[in-house]
Amino acid sequence: MENSNVLTSTQTVIEDALRKLGYGDDMIALLKEPMRLLTVRIPVRMDDGKTKVFVGYRAQHNDAVGPTKGGVRFHPDVNEIEVKALSIWMSIKCGIADLPYGGGKGGIICDPRKMSFRELERLSRGYVRSISQIVGPTKDIPAPDVMTNSQIMAWMMDEYSRIREFDSPGFITGKPLVLGGSLGRESATARGVAIMIDEAMAKKGIALKGARVVIQGFGNAGSYLAKFMFEAGAKVVGISDVHAALYNDQGLDIEDLMDRRDSFGTVTNLFKDTISNEELLAIDCDVLVPAAIENQITASNANQIRAKIIVEAANGPTTLEATKMITDRGILLVPDVLASAGGVIVSYFEWVQNNQGYYWSEAEVDSKLRDMMVRGFNSVYELHKLKKVDMRLAAYMVGVRKMAEAVRLRGWV
Ligand code: GLU
Repeated sequence: MENSNVLTSTQTVIEDALRKLGYGDDMIALLKEPMRLLTVRIPVRMDDGKTKVFVGYRAQHNDAVGPTKGGVRFHPDVNEIEVKALSIWMSIKCGIADLPYGGGKGGIICDPRKMSFRELERLSRGYVRSISQIVGPTKDIPAPDVMTNSQIMAWMMDEYSRIREFDSPGFITGKPLVLGGSLGRESATARGVAIMIDEAMAKKGIALKGARVVIQGFGNAGSYLAKFMFEAGAKVVGISDVHAALYNDQGLDIEDLMDRRDSFGTVTNLFKDTISNEELLAIDCDVLVPAAIENQITASNANQIRAKIIVEAANGPTTLEATKMITDRGILLVPDVLASAGGVIVSYFEWVQNNQGYYWSEAEVDSKLRDMMVRGFNSVYELHKLKKVDMRLAAYMVGVRKMAEAVRLRGWV
């Protein structure tokens, strides 16, 4: 039976990576789980006057390298296991990009699509009050994730600043520009994915112009990526949202879709002629980008995939069994922990700018992002070739080695 538990699959890969790096059971025992997980109950006064209690989490994987860092997601399926796994993934991402952070992640079980603006504000502020003891600009720095955005970051930053009684822009990243956000942050994940597509295509000898690209998911990462691909002359032949998918062999009109999507990335409801998500994944294309949620490419559909390259913009879209099947078929996989690192890299730039009180141009942000992403890709690709391990294991080996070294030097293990 295929294992789609995101935590146990992450633990399998992190354990393999640490063993390959020569570490023993003690290091594995420490790094297999987050060092801290806080569960909170947040009472929120709803617009109808009744109080609803929401459950939220904040997981901190390990802070040997520096403060922990990672987003907060608002989603009905948020749960303890997922938040723990996501915090470990953040450590690996930060390690690959060589950022001075460990991984963290937060989440609230809720459906923001069914909440009003003011209810969301009260929930965001309540969450910060509940976790304020364990977060902060030098402790653990939140950011946007699935269904959270710069407005939510603004409320959270304001609440934290009120609690601490000083302005604390470095408490959270992904803020609006006027509140200390960074140029280029909103599109950073997609920008990073686009850079990874360039690198992967160069390895496969495929040109981006005219290449056929399929993107699953039309949220922040998926929609910006579609735009960048369209602008670069690629043909985006398929996109999808939670309901269905759109397909056009000649390339979809991405600008039109961008204009018509709602703030959660829903757009297929406006069209009669749709295909299913399963059909989308099976489209004949050069690059397939899962940019939605976990466990989309599994043992049951991996053999239907006809892409030459898969670049994972979402966290955890491919199971371990599917990773093996894809790799065995010679498809080049750029794993999530590398491909989606653009968001946290520009978050790091935002935090540095907040700490310095000095703000950079978008060109500066973009060129530093490109340098870090390309360096990460080369380290992972070279290790994958050198040690003859798949790209995911290579990425974990690159991503965990600094943390393990920091743990050892601090004398924890
Ligand atoms: N939520 C994003 C991620 O999964 C960004 C995290 C951050 O910017 O800290 O990588």
